[in-house]
This record gives sequence, C-alpha cells and structure tokens, in this order.
Amino acid sequence: MSSLRFQALQTLAGEERKITGYGDKKVTSIFATNVFSGRTIREYLSDEAYKSLMNSAKSGLRVERKMADQVAAGMKVWAEERGVTHFTHWFQPLTGTTAEKHDSFFTLKSDGTALELFDGEALIQQEPDASSFPNGGIRATFEARGYTAWDPSSPAFIMEAGSGKTLCIPTIFIAYNGESLDYKAPLLKSVAALNKAAVDVCHYFDKNINKVTATLGWEQEYFVIDEALANARPDLLMCGRTLLGHSPAKGQQLEDHYFGSIPERVFAFMQDFEQEAYKLGIPLHTRHNEVAPSQFECAPIFEEVNIAVDHNTLLMDIMNKVAKRHKLKALLHEKPFAGVNGSGKHNNWSMATDTGINLLSPGKTPRTNLMFLTFFVNTIKAVHDYADLLRASIASANNDHRLGANEAPPAIISVYVGKYLSEVLDEVETRVKEKFTEQDEVILKLDIHKQIPELLMDNTDRNRTSPFAFTGNKFEFRAVGSSANCASPMLVLNTIVSETLKQFKIDVDALIDKGERKEIAILQILRNYISDSKKIRFEGDNYSEEWAEEAKRRGLNNFKTTPEALDAYSSEKAKYVFLNNGIFSKRELDARHEIMLEEYVKKVQIEARVLGYIATNHILPAAINYQNVLIQNVKGLKDLHLSEYAYKAQLNMVEVISGHIQSINNNVEAMIEARKIANRIVDVHKRALQYCHSIKPYFDKIRYNADKLELIVDDSQWPLPKYRELLFMR
Ligand code: ADP
Ligand code: MG
Repeated sequence: MSSLRFQALQTLAGEERKITGYGDKKVTSIFATNVFSGRTIREYLSDEAYKSLMNSAKSGLRVERKMADQVAAGMKVWAEERGVTHFTHWFQPLTGTTAEKHDSFFTLKSDGTALELFDGEALIQQEPDASSFPNGGIRATFEARGYTAWDPSSPAFIMEAGSGKTLCIPTIFIAYNGESLDYKAPLLKSVAALNKAAVDVCHYFDKNINKVTATLGWEQEYFVIDEALANARPDLLMCGRTLLGHSPAKGQQLEDHYFGSIPERVFAFMQDFEQEAYKLGIPLHTRHNEVAPSQFECAPIFEEVNIAVDHNTLLMDIMNKVAKRHKLKALLHEKPFAGVNGSGKHNNWSMATDTGINLLSPGKTPRTNLMFLTFFVNTIKAVHDYADLLRASIASANNDHRLGANEAPPAIISVYVGKYLSEVLDEVETRVKEKFTEQDEVILKLDIHKQIPELLMDNTDRNRTSPFAFTGNKFEFRAVGSSANCASPMLVLNTIVSETLKQFKIDVDALIDKGERKEIAILQILRNYISDSKKIRFEGDNYSEEWAEEAKRRGLNNFKTTPEALDAYSSEKAKYVFLNNGIFSKRELDARHEIMLEEYVKKVQIEARVLGYIATNHILPAAINYQNVLIQNVKGLKDLHLSEYAYKAQLNMVEVISGHIQSINNNVEAMIEARKIANRIVDVHKRALQYCHSIKPYFDKIRYNADKLELIVDDSQWPLPKYRELLFMR
C-alpha cells in the first residue's frame, strides 16, 4: 500500500484538502485594476501621449518613438506604484503556450549607482534569446534573432505570481526579417484585411461605417481533478491525458453532472481564478458543469478578437496557476479521459462596425436585412470555399481524439443555419432571376428580423452537432480544441471572409457597371453565392453515420488525422488566399506547416514513450506480482491434494494474465521498432504520417491489454489511480 496512488488517496481525505481561498470581492471593485487601459491611461499620460497611444490602439499603427518614451514613463510609474519590479514582453510563440522573459527595471549607471529604468526602446522592441522557439526553418542559427514588438492595440497588464508582480507588454514575435513566428502577428494582419474588405462592402449600405472588427466570445471547457491523483499518473503529468485506464462502471450515462450543482472545492477554485481574471480585465460571465464528470466550462462576454485571444491564453495560464493553490489540476487537454466527452472551445465569431452594428444580426428594415444577408451569405461562401483551411486551423494531435468521436463535431466541415434561414436562402436562390423582377423587391422586404430572434435564441432550434453553426447573431465554430490558441482558427476565418468579401465587391460592382440597380446586383450575386455554396450547408445530425456518407457524396472532405488535415496549408488555394490578403508569405506558410507537423510528431512521440514506460514499469510488474500470488495459491491448493476444480479458476487467471503480459510486451517492443523507423525519416511530412499510421495504432493495442489487467489485478496492488478516483473523488 505504499504506492503513490494510495498516498494520493490518503491525502485526499486529509486536512490539506480543506477548501480555501474563496474569491469574494465585488467584480466592479477589482475589474481591470491590473490593466493599463481606460481611465488609468488618462491619469498617467500627458494629453499628447494619451492621444498618440489611443490612435495606435485604434489603427494598429506604431507609436512614435518620442511618444513611446512618454508612454513607457507613465506605465512605469503606474506599475511601480503597484509594487512591480520587472517587466516582460509577453508573446504567443507557436508552442501553444505563452512566453515571457522578465527583465528588471533596475540597471546600473556608468558610475555604478543603481537606477530604475524603462524607456520607449524597452517598451517598443526586445530581442529575446529565443532561438529555441519553433520557427520552421525560418531562422537558421546564424540569423537566429527574433524580435518582440509591442502591440499597442492590446493593453499592458500586471501579472501577479505569489508576491511578485510583473509588467507584461503584449507583443508580436517576428524574425529579423519581419517574418512572423507567433500567433498574434498574422491575427492582427487578418483583422486589418477583414476590416478593409468589410468596410468596403458596408459602404453599399451605410457610408458612415469606418471600421469593422471581428469579435470573439470563446467558451472554455476543462476538467479539474485532484493534484495528488494527477501526480500519481505519469501520463497525466507528461501528456496531459490518460493513456490507459479502464472506464468506470458509471461514466456520464446518467447525465447527472451537466449543469448540476458545482462541487464546492471546484467552486472555490473557479471563484479564485475568476477574481484573478477580473483584475486583468477578462470579462468572465458564465460558469457551469459540463457533460462529463469533473468537466466544467467558463465563458466571457465577447470582445474584439485580438483582445479575446490574449484573454483566453492568459486565462489558461491563470487557471493552471490558481489550480495549484487549491491542490487541484486543471486539465485543458482535448481528451484527458477515454469514454467520456472531451473538451472543446467554441469560438463565437461575428463582425461589428464602429457604428455599433453587429453585421450578423438580422436587420429591421429591408436595407439592413440585405446587409445582414450579405455578410451572412459571404461567410457561408467563405467556409464553403476554404473548408479545408478551417479544418487545418484546428488540427492537432490532441484534437484528433475528439473530432468525430460522437461527442464533438466530426472532421467534416459544414454549416448549420437553422430552418428559417434555410428557407430564406432557398427563397433567394429560387426566386431571384438573372433579370430584375418584381420578386426581387418582395424578397428585399422579407421580415427576417421578426422571425429569427425567437427561433434561434430558442435552444430547441439549435443544432449542437454542427461544427459551424449560426446561432442568431453570430457563427459558432465548435470544432476548436480546448487547449488551442484561438488565433489559429480566427485568423483563417478572418482571412477567408475577407477574401470572399473582396470578390463579392468585384462581382457586384461589375453588375452595377452594367447598369444594374445596386440592391438588385447584390441580390443576384448573393443568389449565385448561395447556389455555389449549397453543399456546405447541413441541418441534420452531424454525428451520424449517414452524414459521413452523404458528405462523401457531396464531395466534402473528412480529414480524420492531423498530418492529412495540415496538407491544406501547402495547397495552391492557401497560398493564394494568405498572400492575397497579406497574412503569410509562402515561406511563412511553409514554416507554419512544418512547425505544426513537428509538433504533431513530438506529441505522439512523447505519448508513445510514456505509454511504453508505464506499460513496462507499472502495469507489467503489477500483473506479475499478482500472478505470483495466484501461482502460490494454486501451489498451496495442490499441496492439499484437492481436486483440480479447487484451483481451476486461479489457473485460468494465471494463463489469461500471461496472455496480456505477452501482448503488452510484444506491442511495446514493436512500437519501439516502429519509432526507430519513423525517426530515421528526414521529411517531416512523411515522418508525421508514419507516427500517425504506424505508431499510434499500438496505443490502442497496449491499452486494451492493460485495461483488461486493471480488471483482474488485485485493486490494492494496482499502481495508477483509476478512472473512478480521478473523475469522482475530490
Ligand atoms: P452557448 O449556449 O453556446 O453555451 P453562451 O451564452 O455560453 O452560449 O456563449 C455564447 C458566447 O458567445 C459568449 O461568450 C458570448 O459573449 C458570445 N457572443 C455573443 N454575441 C457575440 C458576437 N456578436 N460576437 C462574438 N461572440 C458573441
Ligand atoms: Mg456554445
């Protein structure tokens, strides 16, 4: 009984697990207190510096050097008053986490006396020694310089860790020649591209619109389990998910967890991380239990996409840190446990104008109706034309376990719009003719706004199985994984919608030039787009077998694995759309593709190693020990000269255990051999395919036998916390 498992179980019952740290401050009293924004900026900056910063925040343009000194000075005073001693450029490299390198304000003058310094130079640009961040061949070692550059559109903030406080400057991360090495730089470019394309199209309807921003509201799903139990599982510790473990008698079949009352220890954790989030201006709004046992969700009020992405990555970081305080572990992995639901991160996306209009909100007049229809149809067309890119944007080794597992949307991209809007689209498609008719006028008068809100806000009309669903005033991209950086799907969505809107404008202008009335020209192009993109629309059950078959007939792709899905990044289409919208150069795109493949290989490789290790060092010894007990037992019974009947069952178990041991041993060895072959493959694309198709299949084989052994071996000798303990004990 000395194994980590039993120590952990004992800890769970002890004093250490008493609930602490309820966050009890009123949200308004702490909201954004650690953020350099709003009224704070006004207070710490001169008029001149304030205006300059606000301008940059709005336009995304650089702050002039002279002003940067002033902004830095103001920031430093603000930060020091709050006990900050260090600053860092905070960025999002392609590792999937955030990166920081702290520098002290403290420096030495030439005469050796100490000085606290933070100037414009330090604010605007840094050169972190970052040669080991993934770069996909963009930076050879001789040019291994990477720069972080301030993004003034996202406010600086103070990160607290224990009693230490650090001023964090959100930055982009680029190579010496400007090529992007992170998520933020291309996201900002896509925001700019979408803005331009959408404003141009808005001008058909409203000349007062000068800016369009993409908005994002994410819904973060996660699991919470006890820290000691997690630490007793090498797989959770190293991979963030369980690689084996027999499903418990009770899983999620009773559906008693979903929206149930939140367990108290987890509730305290939630309140605590929410308070940390509020201080950083993250507008968390909802929290609830999710479908699987020990699974939960939180969601904020939506924000501009760039800020929302920063806030999501920050929150994931905060959750990990705060969980430690509570002796809990937050699992953000897409599939921590087999047999129960995995975790996603729905990305609710829309476009908002500077005049306060949500472009995906049905209008109240024929003119605004047409504006809504325009952006609605263009988005559908974009998803239709670039479905493979969207699929690639959410591809990861983690997410492969979730997509298509009857709990999350399949890997087939389709769009759900609901019954009423389907009818509207059908109507436009069939009734608008090449030549203007009275019908066109009638269609313009459709009372879309009156019908949609009631219908779509009503949950019953929502299709929860769709990967990309219209939910009344926004699209919800549901196939995004829980640990993903939302920037990846969001920058693709912004880019493809930008591209589609640009083409739309060209098409409509061509008709107008031929003398067509504007509204009619728009309707006619919309009709074409509706026809062209019809095959992407699907209203039925996306989880069903029939849909997979139907999708195949329609010619929709179903890339089930990451290496295949990522191919879209090197397609001609990808090159065209990213280059044409100024998001990625060809080299950047190739680099990104390579980085994603490398990451896939590394993830699977680590899992394979950990699984081999656990199987050999944990499972086999437990099985052999128990088998020895059985053998002793059989021997003893034989010594008593009892009939064979007395030890038949035990003998049988000895044999069954031998079978599993043999199987595990063979498969672990074969998996190691397969890895050796894979590791010799130089081409990363081929290597990834090898890992996917020749190594991963061993995972299931090894797991099968290990899980069978879990059912046989004496519970008191089983070394790993079991699913029932991980999922139900806290
Ligand atoms: P669900 O029923 O899908 O769980 P929630 O209310 O939990 O819905 O989450 C919806 C999310 O969508 C929230 O984060 C919300 O802020 C966001 N949202 C609402 N309107 C918009 C919009 N116009 N643009 C982007 N996100 C939005
Ligand atoms: Mg949702």
